Amino acid sequence: MPSRRLQVWKPCVICKDMTTEFNYQVDSCNKCKMVFRRVFRLSVPLEPCNCSTRRIQECRNCRFYSCINGGMQINSIKKYREKLSLIDSLIALDNKRNSTFFKYQMTEDLNLDQIMSPGAIKEKDEHVIFTSHDWVLMEIYTTIEFMKGFDLVNLLTSRDLKIFIKNAYFKCAIYFIAVRSYSNNLSFMTFPEKVDVFPEEILNVPQYSQLLLNKIRCRLISKFIEYRVTKEELLLLVSIIFCDQTDPDYSMPAKNIISQYQKIYASALFQYCELKYQQSVPARFAELISISAVLVDTITDLDTVVSLFNLYQPTLKLRQLVKDSFPQS
Ligand SMILES: [Zn+2]
Ligand SMILES: [Zn+2]
Repeated sequence: MPSRRLQVWKPCVICKDMTTEFNYQVDSCNKCKMVFRRVFRLSVPLEPCNCSTRRIQECRNCRFYSCINGGMQINSIKKYREKLSLIDSLIALDNKRNSTFFKYQMTEDLNLDQIMSPGAIKEKDEHVIFTSHDWVLMEIYTTIEFMKGFDLVNLLTSRDLKIFIKNAYFKCAIYFIAVRSYSNNLSFMTFPEKVDVFPEEILNVPQYSQLLLNKIRCRLISKFIEYRVTKEELLLLVSIIFCDQTDPDYSMPAKNIISQYQKIYASALFQYCELKYQQSVPARFAELISISAVLVDTITDLDTVVSLFNLYQPTLKLRQLVKDSFPQS
């Protein structure tokens, strides 16, 4: 530390012990600093904490969440200072996602709780021919697996984790369908072996607007093509989209953790743009962020199609995880 702070005694904003230290952007004692720092070295989730009142002196979890609420910055943890190294871990997660996508199938039509438990998938039988229903389930499964690889997952309680996954899995699975099709140089969303993204049951029903279906298939990818988006940008952008803290059901620490990670991914994207483009970096960054609005539009259109399913083909059975993504169905 080049500039020494004056040795002034102040209460630690977390535990109120007197301290002269300043750690992770707040006045805080050594004990709180250590607890905060060590949590980021854990490779397993914080175990559930049943403290009835917040007893931060005795409980690591309560102290950690108080550190978060007290304003400690995850950003200042050593491993997040080198933002571009986040890209490597995203690429590793993405490779895993792709290999699972092709090699496995879901054991049955599961809901969110079941899909997050062991035994949700099995090795793919080579004779089985996947329909769009099967592919979309694997897209959702591998999206959730990707999300569960994020560091922040270890910091959330199981209740908050469920909200985190529930809010993003469908939206981001659609994003990943677009990413895969774009990587295969296609200009519309499709599953492998030319299986359409929509269930074949609807394709011969004239009431569905082909214009609407095509808009859903193409809009996101046309932006990827227009902006010549790179793989690194696509992965950082989806991470920013995942980290959406707006759900009112989140606990305070969860809101805080998720929004701090969103800023970390956003500054990683900005740094990547600086490195790659040298000029007009803010414009490039804004262009990329604007893609998330196109994803929202695509989901809104899908919502329309799902309400039409209910109207025209009430017997058509969507898979549970798809159905649960739409409030009205
Ligand atoms: Zn303290
Ligand atoms: Zn506790």
